[in-house]
This record gives sequence, C-alpha cells and structure tokens, in this order.
Amino acid sequence: MPSVVQTRRTAPILTVLAMLALSSTSLAAQRAGVAQRDTMQKPEATEVWKPVPKVVTPGATNADAPSDAIVLFNGKNADEWVTASSGAPAGWKVADGVLTVVKTAGDIKTKRSFNNYQLHLEWRVPENITGSGQARGNSGVYLAWTGDGGYELQVLDSYKNETYVNGQAGSMYKQYPPLVNAMRPPGQWQTYDVVWTAPTFKADGSLDTPGYVTAFHNGILVQDHVALRGTTEYIGAPKYKAHGASPILLQAHGDPSPAISYRNIWVRELPK
Ligand code: MG
Repeated sequence: MPSVVQTRRTAPILTVLAMLALSSTSLAAQRAGVAQRDTMQKPEATEVWKPVPKVVTPGATNADAPSDAIVLFNGKNADEWVTASSGAPAGWKVADGVLTVVKTAGDIKTKRSFNNYQLHLEWRVPENITGSGQARGNSGVYLAWTGDGGYELQVLDSYKNETYVNGQAGSMYKQYPPLVNAMRPPGQWQTYDVVWTAPTFKADGSLDTPGYVTAFHNGILVQDHVALRGTTEYIGAPKYKAHGASPILLQAHGDPSPAISYRNIWVRELPK
C-alpha cells in the first residue's frame, strides 16, 4: 500500500513538473514577444534626434526679418533692385523708409535669383487713391520673373472695389482668387507672407512639378498651396516655359491712380 501511495503521489508530481517546464518555456517565449513589443511601444522608439534644426533668431516681431533672411528693402535704399527691362539702377523713390512706385521708371526686379523661399513684404495703397476696378492701386509681386513673364500675386486696392475675383488683391492673377478678402482700407499698411515652391522642369524642358503658392494677406490665409497652371497671363491661358532660379519682380502698373508703396521686404531661401 505504501508503495502504491508513493506511486500515486509520484505520478502527479512528475506531471506537474512537466507542465511547469512546458509552461515556463512558453512563458519565456511570451516574455520575449512582450519585450519586443515593449521596445516598439517605448516612446524612444519613435524619437528622432538628428539632424538638429539650425537655430534662427526671430525678429522683434513676426514682421521683422529673422536672422537668416536676406533683406531686400530695409527702408534705406533700393540697392537690391534693378530696373527689370534694362538692368539699370531701380528708379523708384526711396523716402521716409518707404519704396514708392515710379510708374514711368518701370518694373523693378531683385538682383538676386531665387528658387524656393519664404517672402515677407508690406504695401500701402495711398489714402487719396482714385479709380476703380483694376485701375485702382494696381501693382503686383511676381514670385519668379522669367524674363518675359512670371507668376503674379496681385496687388490692388480691393477695399470695397469690385473687379474680377481672380484679379483682386491676394489672387494669383487669373488663376486663383483669394480664399477671402483680407484687405485693409487705403492708407493702412498691408502684409503679404508667401511660401513659394518654384516649378521644376525635366531635361527636355517639359514641366516636372508645378509651382505652388501659399500666401497670407494681413496674416490671413488667402492661397492654400495652390498649384499654378503656368505663368499668370493677362490674355489667354497660363503656360509653362522651363526656367531656373529667378528674380522677384515688383510691378509698375500703368493705371492712372496714385502710386502705391512698399516697405520691409525680406526673403528666406528654402531648400530645393
Ligand atoms: Mg498687377
């Protein structure tokens, strides 16, 4: 009897030991799996530490040039600009920290050429503005001037001044109306903040990727990453012609209304 009892006792113990061995094996496997999942789920697994973004010191206000900006007009002179048609010194008037269009002197363009960039500029329609529609404070910022055309962000007095909407202030001329009319009244300064992604072209000159524009007028989004269909044309459809880095151009429009002014123009080059 004692031996039977012992056998009976031994068998369950062996079984338990075997089960324990088995379960410890599967437990180890489970733990390994859990550990692996834990590694994936740790916050560190999705952290990126390099490359470290370079430090850029902001201006005193968001309208002031940050430390990595190229200042294109600081109120003192128009040395960064030339007459677009001739390359002669820019003939616009600089006085009281302001650059005012001289319509007879023609468009001016930057001496430098740019690909992608962030641009800030300020413009003011004079308080004594006259005219209506497109003949009221017309100018424009060509985000890239390719020699015989470009991509115009319209400048116009659009404060209670009706015109075709894809030609009002904040429009990408005849391609995209602004999302809203963010115009301040004549006599007050307006701001434009623009992100320009230049179009790219294939070796055969055909379009690879279109130009894109994001623009804020007085801090309000008016163009939301719109894809241009080509240069902005007064007459006819937009079209692309291959070009590389290009100057920025300010338009001396021939409308008979009093000339508008610009100030505080700076640009930050962005990677291609
Ligand atoms: Mg214009």
